[in-house]
Amino acid sequence: MPEMPDLEAYRAFFNSRLPGVTIQAVTVRIPLVIRVPKDDFIATLNGNVFGEVERRGKFLLFSLRSGDYLAIHPMLTGRFQYRRPQEKRRPKTCFVLALSNGHELRYFDDRRMGKVYLVKQGDLDTLPLFADLGPEPLSDEFTEEAFREHLRRFRGQIKSVIRNDRLVAAIGNAYADEILFAASIHPYRKRIELPPEAEVRLYQAIRSVLGEAAAIVTDRVEKEGLPVDEYRDHLKVHRRGGQPCPNCGSPISEITANQRITSFCRHCQK
Ligand SMILES: [Zn+2]
Repeated sequence: MPEMPDLEAYRAFFNSRLPGVTIQAVTVRIPLVIRVPKDDFIATLNGNVFGEVERRGKFLLFSLRSGDYLAIHPMLTGRFQYRRPQEKRRPKTCFVLALSNGHELRYFDDRRMGKVYLVKQGDLDTLPLFADLGPEPLSDEFTEEAFREHLRRFRGQIKSVIRNDRLVAAIGNAYADEILFAASIHPYRKRIELPPEAEVRLYQAIRSVLGEAAAIVTDRVEKEGLPVDEYRDHLKVHRRGGQPCPNCGSPISEITANQRITSFCRHCQK
């Protein structure tokens, strides 16, 4: 699933290519993912011009000259291609936008669970889950004080808590493992059991892990192109079960529950 660093990289990639570019043709192949009537989708996009590309939580927001956003929440398997028309399309390509710069912007989605909306620029809060999004983890409003106060409203295991978009936006399964490793917190620890110093470490780890990852992934997307699966080679514990912990050398534990993999170090994370 694309998480904050991945989506931030897509945003930067598109924002250096799309503003000022006109959509010359719209082809819808899998209407299921498009949450507005297909005819409206085509009519609004056709001839429209891209403005700035923004991101909020797990939504990519492509602003348009008409005053609309093309808002895309890729869920688990939504991905993008930005290619010349003659280059091969991915299976499960849902829609294709032919652009005035000779490229095509394509959205593909193997499980077709992503959600694609058109929304007026003042109406973003009408999108499902949008109004409830917590602060952006690298924003100025996401302060240690605000985080620790907000954290106290959440119960349950700490990994589930930090994956909740209401607490802080756009942390998913992979970066939750990385953040908890950096903060030396066991993923199944209850939130109410965390001492104050662990809350501080958690805040700092959210900022540092996501900030560093966003820089790494943005650089790779720029150099190597948009990925089919996320660039994840830089992760230290997630999906590295059995490999040595980079801190202590003991094997990383990996547990699958509810179809989710959790990776952590039993020695380093208490
Ligand atoms: Zn360790």
